Amino acid sequence: MVVIGAGQAGLSSAYHLRRTGFEPERDFVVLDHAPQPGGAWQFRWPTLTYGKVHGMHSLPGMELMDADPARPSSEVIAEYFDHYEQTFDLRVRRPVDVRTVREGDRGRLLVETSAGTWSTRALINATGTWDRPFWPRYPGQETFRGRQLHTAQYPGPEEFAGQRVVVVGGGTSGTQHLMEIAPYAAETTWVTRRPPVFHEGPFDEGTGRAAVALVEERVRQGLPPQSVVSVTGLPLNDTIRRAIDDGVLDRLPMFDRITPDGVEWDDGRRVDADIILWATGFRAAIDHLAPLRLREPGGGIRVEGTRAVADPRIHLVGYGPSASTIGANRAGRSAVRDIRRLLAGVPVAA
Ligand SMILES: Cc1cc2nc3c(=O)[nH]c(=O)nc-3n(C[C@H](O)[C@H](O)[C@H](O)COP(=O)(O)OP(=O)(O)OC[C@H]3O[C@@H](n4cnc5c(N)ncnc54)[C@H](O)[C@@H]3O)c2cc1C
Repeated sequence: MVVIGAGQAGLSSAYHLRRTGFEPERDFVVLDHAPQPGGAWQFRWPTLTYGKVHGMHSLPGMELMDADPARPSSEVIAEYFDHYEQTFDLRVRRPVDVRTVREGDRGRLLVETSAGTWSTRALINATGTWDRPFWPRYPGQETFRGRQLHTAQYPGPEEFAGQRVVVVGGGTSGTQHLMEIAPYAAETTWVTRRPPVFHEGPFDEGTGRAAVALVEERVRQGLPPQSVVSVTGLPLNDTIRRAIDDGVLDRLPMFDRITPDGVEWDDGRRVDADIILWATGFRAAIDHLAPLRLREPGGGIRVEGTRAVADPRIHLVGYGPSASTIGANRAGRSAVRDIRRLLAGVPVAA
């Protein structure tokens, strides 16, 4: 068994493998190309403190206790994952980059990596999205004389001091960047494709479940998964209310083109800018699975639970509806249950 990725989804899967009698190194291996424990969290900007992260669920079997809310989540979670890997003896191999997965002999899959090839009867893919930032393309983009960067490279607000910044994107990252940058920048402009929808009232379990069900339906149809925020809208808390009142979250529709000095709309409006910050989200990091031809014409992989419909040996954990910390926890357990049945020869649909 090979698990690719040691973020929340991969570690949850490895924990359940261990609990159900699989031995690390003998029966399964976890491969990760990041330099240290922490999954994508290790790369998040220092001002994303643990106190700013809402709805982070602990991994199964070990609570994250008494974390200092003022510390960067990159440190808090990296330490917690490290401790978790050691406690449950998961023996993650890193840095190991998985380059491709292809069909092998006798129904096995070949996992080709920077550290050699593994042959396996089943695969848990838990590679998240951080490695595939999504940059939309707009006319004139290459002519811009300023700096363009993506959320994946966001360094924290100080670097924006005195700059005119255009932030693109209506998700949580975009609003968080704006609220952080505004006090430092000379000027901020927020543009989004669709008008942002702020979610009134508490974000309860029912709302969460309904959002997950919508994303689930998309992946069942083989469409690329949407982010859960695009379904739920943004939570309207006091900080967001203040930013709306202060004009920081005053949104403009998407511009039509980029010029050397800024952005322009067809109606003649223009905004000069030194920096364009693309908070335009991420896509599933699954290019290494391309030789298996799992993608549907709609562009996504059809998934039932966590199992790829086209190939029951492959489970996608942390993909689509399970792309949250709580979803990844549940998906890890369910993938392991399915794989145990597969290896025992029980029909998958039974
Ligand atoms: C800014 C931000 C804040 C968030 N806050 C929250 C929150 O508060 N609560 C919440 O529930 N969710 C939050 N999320 C979503 C959250 O990150 C995910 O739900 C969860 O942490 C993702 O876990 P994962 O294991 O699927 O992915 P990751 O943490 O990205 O782990 C994937 C791992 O796979 C490895 N990998 C990828 N490709 C390869 C390859 N080819 N070969 C080898 N290794 C590979 C990577 O190195 C990485 O370690 C947030 C996301 C972002 C971007």
